[in-house]
Amino acid sequence: MTNPQTPGPDSLAERLAAVRAGIADAAAHAGRDPDDITTIVVTKFHPATLVRQLFDLGVREVGENRHQEAQAKAAELGDLDLGWNFIGQLQSKKARQVRGYAHSVHSLDRESVVDALSSTDGSIDGFVQLNLTDDPSRGGVKDAGLESLAERVLNTPGLTLRGVMAVAPIDEDPRRAFARVRIASERVRRIAPDARFISAGMSGDYREAILEGATHLRIGSAITGNRPTHG
Ligand SMILES: *Cc1c(COP(=O)(O)O)cnc(C)c1O
Repeated sequence: MTNPQTPGPDSLAERLAAVRAGIADAAAHAGRDPDDITTIVVTKFHPATLVRQLFDLGVREVGENRHQEAQAKAAELGDLDLGWNFIGQLQSKKARQVRGYAHSVHSLDRESVVDALSSTDGSIDGFVQLNLTDDPSRGGVKDAGLESLAERVLNTPGLTLRGVMAVAPIDEDPRRAFARVRIASERVRRIAPDARFISAGMSGDYREAILEGATHLRIGSAITGNRPTHG
């Protein structure tokens, strides 16, 4: 991918088609129905024009990890029937505003964020993010805190607990990491049987995620191309 000599798909449509084919292939290997897998295209750092192109290619779910950027793009693309997924670390102060455009928050990682998302005006989906590393700056709740955070979401008006979310650590085999997520998902389902979804798998590891039961993939660069540099 980083070798400029390597010919790869060079248009958005081709990259999207290649990833869709990769997902179908991995689903077949896993003996799963590809229709049970939702692909969220991560559009962070890319302009709204690219999101509109993705919509024209049939994409209906997008993911963003910074509140201000997401809010601006969602407003600019308000004419499109797009589902906005918030996937990044969230400050409690900003959490409430995310309800204004996102139908799903994948990064519920502590009680203060869950509490800040509480509302009596409609419900949005929530995933409890599990930290698979020992590094607290990585985002996500520690393994030991998983059930209590899930309970917190269950008891919060305005949030519907859908399942667990995780990012594979860089220094662990992704298949092994996602096997741990599958076990975490089973633990959550013991207290919330309907919260059966697993948000896992990115550009480099979505195949492994599918093999371990991921239902929501968050795929950026493999579809969008490299992200514009920023900041
Ligand atoms: C950026 C991001 C992704 C997508 O990463 P790619 O490697 O570009 O596919 C997925 N999940 C989260 C939480 C992200 O921040």
